[in-house]
Amino acid sequence: MAQEDYYKVLGVDRNASDAEISKAYRRLAKKYHPDLNHEPGAEEKYKQVNEAYEVLHDQQKRAQYDQFGQAGANGQAGFGGQGFGGQGFSGFGDFSDIFNDFFGGARRQRQVDPTAPTRGADLDQTITIDFMDAVKGRKLHLAYNRDETCETCHGMGTEHGTHPLVCDKCGGTGVVLQTNRSNPYTIFQQQVVCDKCHGTGKIIQHPCKTCQGKGLVNKKVALDATIPAGVDNGTQVTLQGQGDAGKNGGPYGNLYLEIRVRPSKTFKRRGTTLYTEVQITFAQATLGDEIKVQTVDGEENLRIPAGTQPETVFTLRGKGVPSLHGSGRGNQEVTAKVVIPKHLNQEQRDALVDYVKAGGGEVPPQAKNFFERLKDKLNGE
Ligand SMILES: [Zn+2]
Ligand SMILES: [Zn+2]
Repeated sequence: MAQEDYYKVLGVDRNASDAEISKAYRRLAKKYHPDLNHEPGAEEKYKQVNEAYEVLHDQQKRAQYDQFGQAGANGQAGFGGQGFGGQGFSGFGDFSDIFNDFFGGARRQRQVDPTAPTRGADLDQTITIDFMDAVKGRKLHLAYNRDETCETCHGMGTEHGTHPLVCDKCGGTGVVLQTNRSNPYTIFQQQVVCDKCHGTGKIIQHPCKTCQGKGLVNKKVALDATIPAGVDNGTQVTLQGQGDAGKNGGPYGNLYLEIRVRPSKTFKRRGTTLYTEVQITFAQATLGDEIKVQTVDGEENLRIPAGTQPETVFTLRGKGVPSLHGSGRGNQEVTAKVVIPKHLNQEQRDALVDYVKAGGGEVPPQAKNFFERLKDKLNGE
């Protein structure tokens, strides 16, 4: 089975940090969670996202995946099994060791340049809005914390007039090779983050006082965002470049707003269609009438034709929710609930009895008055 590239699944690049991978995972897992997303294919996507995260958030599995792809990361024999016959290799533990023996030093290393511009992390926020705001759209004032490029040192992390030194332990690469022996037959080398410079490749002797050498400062920021008309529960709104600042002059990440919508007492919603109910009397259903119904634009007239049956659905074209993708609005479907009166006064009852008689029908026993019923009883009916 052809499998998606794990980095593509999570939408991160191959140099993504652990934090970026975790953030991307949390965002996508929420987006495709079967409890929240009922669209076809969402569950499959959810599984893929989990599978990708399983591998990429584990440093060892990720390193193996980078070198050998799926087979390496899952510890399955992508090649091996048949060709080599199990016996001879019983002394070897991990499958990746076998690869290391075969390819030796020729294998591809994941080379990360610590001075390369990296994009800032994405941020998530969940906001809850009213039903009507989701239908009509609204402006929101957001306040949140994010990392911004330090203005004092312009992201360099050094005090004015000083320069960082190249890390002498890793030679500025941010990584060092570690030699491991997993069993008597196998020695392998592994790339690990340089502990002296923490992977930055440089040593700052005079750190900027504003940011303590990080080049970034965490700040509370305010932002006016527009929530477009038509968002629904679970919709994600992307605010480009409103996430954390990048490093080494890299771009800002995004801010992802996850929308939650408070339900309405009047309207039910599915996609762009709105559903309401309206109560009409038996007489209105029978004789017809013009009534008022609630729409998201206020009251609208609705003509009830004579002879309307209970549960008849009337469609109000273009009175639904605006489509987020493209133009136009959905419809509103109004279900007529015919209310049967529980109590009638004498006059109404007489009129109904007359109505039945006028149609040539038998008056049902319940419709007869007390004395008529007593008479029936005495006659043994
Ligand atoms: Zn600074
Ligand atoms: Zn170093």
